[in-house]
Amino acid sequence: MSGTENCEDTVGYTLHGSRYLNLTNRCGILRCAFCPKFNGAWSVKEYDMRLHHYPSADELVEAAGNPADYKEIVFCGMGESTMRLEVMLEVARRLREKGARLRLNTNGLGNLINGRDVAPEIAALIPTISVSLNAQDEETYNRHCRPKDPRAYASVLEFVESARKAGADVTVTAIDGLPGVNIAACQAVADRLGVRFRRRVLDDLV
Ligand code: SF4
Repeated sequence: MSGTENCEDTVGYTLHGSRYLNLTNRCGILRCAFCPKFNGAWSVKEYDMRLHHYPSADELVEAAGNPADYKEIVFCGMGESTMRLEVMLEVARRLREKGARLRLNTNGLGNLINGRDVAPEIAALIPTISVSLNAQDEETYNRHCRPKDPRAYASVLEFVESARKAGADVTVTAIDGLPGVNIAACQAVADRLGVRFRRRVLDDLV
């Protein structure tokens, strides 16, 4: 992947009245077995999410369009936005100046990826955060998300707690229908962490 611009890439896309930003295809730590990209499917609705370059902050701000036209601007592509933390935060800062309502959809591994607790700095700029919890326990999580780092599940829980303490409105999600995933038990984890819970269905990335 190069750093040069490629106009064919889907950097921004619109779903359900919100504008989404696609920062990267890389996830760093997870290789989720249910992820469409590992099954050769790179589409979200009519959008091809494959990136052939890393979109710059300028490009992302431009792709966000006019925030007044959308319910919210969401950092969410087919990859983990916190892999590009500095760019994401710069874009968030600039979009806030334009009055945007911001949300991050994340796998919750920003702390492990960046080697420190990044939740407070994210929460300071992006007030709404949706985290893929994916499972009620580490064993089930590891089966489906196949993390390269054994600390992944614990780190997701720490991220959620830190983001909540920093004042973010945090929702954790899990996919209904994956073998062994107990939605009621995932809800109980959310309750324990003091955050909201949302059940998702497979193939729904947002
Ligand atoms: S974190 Fe998301 S994009 Fe990354 S492999 Fe898992 S499902 Fe796919």
